[in-house]
Amino acid sequence: MIPFNKPYFHGDELVYITNTVTAGKISGDGIYTKKCHDFFETHYGFKKVLLTTSCTDALEMAAILLDIQPGDEVIAPSYTFVSTVNAFALRGAKIIFADSYHDHPNIDPEQIKKLITPNTKAIVVVHYAGVACDMDAIMALGTQYNIPVVEDAAQAIDGYYKGKPLGSIGTFGTFSFHETKNIIAGEGGLLAINDEKYIQRAEIIREKGTNRTSFFRGEVAKYGWVDIGSSFLPSDIIAAYLYAQLENINAIQVRRKDIWQKYYEKLCVLLTKSNVQLPIVREYSTNNAHMFYLVCENLEQRTSLIQYLKDNNVHAVFHYLSLHNSGFYQSKYFGHNLPNSDFYTDSLVRLPLFYELTDEQVDYICEKIKEFFNCSV
Ligand SMILES: *Cc1c(COP(=O)(O)O)cnc(C)c1O
Repeated sequence: MIPFNKPYFHGDELVYITNTVTAGKISGDGIYTKKCHDFFETHYGFKKVLLTTSCTDALEMAAILLDIQPGDEVIAPSYTFVSTVNAFALRGAKIIFADSYHDHPNIDPEQIKKLITPNTKAIVVVHYAGVACDMDAIMALGTQYNIPVVEDAAQAIDGYYKGKPLGSIGTFGTFSFHETKNIIAGEGGLLAINDEKYIQRAEIIREKGTNRTSFFRGEVAKYGWVDIGSSFLPSDIIAAYLYAQLENINAIQVRRKDIWQKYYEKLCVLLTKSNVQLPIVREYSTNNAHMFYLVCENLEQRTSLIQYLKDNNVHAVFHYLSLHNSGFYQSKYFGHNLPNSDFYTDSLVRLPLFYELTDEQVDYICEKIKEFFNCSV
C-alpha cells in the first residue's frame, strides 16, 4: 500500500535530542527552542515567535491575547480544521462561518464583508494547502472596521503572499508541526506575533500566566501570577526534533514541489477529459506543496475514486467536513447555507505527498487515476 503520509526523518533529530538531554535541561525554552526561534525570526523576518505545543495552542493564545469575550463574534471559514474556531469557542465566542470561493477552498473576502457587525472581534483565515488567501482584501476589511486578523498558517510554512511570508501579515500567525505537515515535530506549533504590543502578554500567557520569561531574562527579581494563561510551551526535546527538520527545509521543499509538479503535469489531462478540477494557485500566492488534491464532481464519484485507489493499493483521503454542519455546531448555527464549503466537503480528495514518495509511485498513482476516469493515453 502506498501510504497517504510518511513523516520526514533526517537523522539529526536524534543527535539533537541526545544533545539537549545530556545538557540536562529538557523543559521549555532550552537551547533548541532558542535555535528554532532564531531560525524563524531571521529566515522569515517575523517580529517575534514563540514555540507552542501545537497550532491549536497557538490559536488559543491568539484568542486570549485578543481578549475574546462570551458573545463576541469571530468570522472564520467553515471548511477548515476544528482548532481554527474551537480556540475562539473556548472563550465563548459565537462563530460566524463564511463560505469558500467556488473555485478554491480558501475563505472568500466578499463573504467575510457581508458578515461583519459591530460585534465582530476577529477574522480568522486559513491558507488552505499552503496557498495564500487574498490578504490585501482581508487586511483592508480589518483596517476599515478595526478588526484584528489571525492567519491560521498551520499548512503554510514557507508560503508567501506577494513576497510576504504567510503568518507575518495578520496580527498573529499560527503554524503546526504535526506529523502531517511539511516540517514536523510529532506535535508542535508556533505563534508569530506581528504587533509589538502583544509580545509581553504572549510570553506571560504561554508560561501559565506568570512573568517567568522576564524573570529568566533578569528583568524582575522574582516571578509570580500576573494574568491568566496555560502551559503552552513545548519541551526542548520537541524543539530539538524540530530544529533538525528546519535545517533541512530547503531539501524538503524542493522534493515536495517536484512531486506536486509531477502530479499536476500528469493529471492535467483530467481538465479536458473529465469534470475534475486540479488545485488553483492564484498569481499573488506561491505554492509550498503542502498538499495535492483533486476536486471530484460529487460525493459519489469521490467515494468510488477513493475505493478504486484503495483496491489498487493507494491510500487517498477526503478532508474537512463543514464545521457549520458538525455535530457540535449544527444546532447553534443560524447563518446562511455555505454551498462551496459543503461542495469541498463532498468532493475534495487528497493524494499521497511526502518526501520519500518516489517518481515511480507518483506515475503509478496518476495512471490509476486516469484509468478510473477512462482517460489513459
Ligand atoms: C493541522 C491544522 C491545525 C492543527 O494543528 P495542530 O498542530 O495539530 O494543533 C489547525 N488548523 C489547520 C488549518 C490545520 O491544517
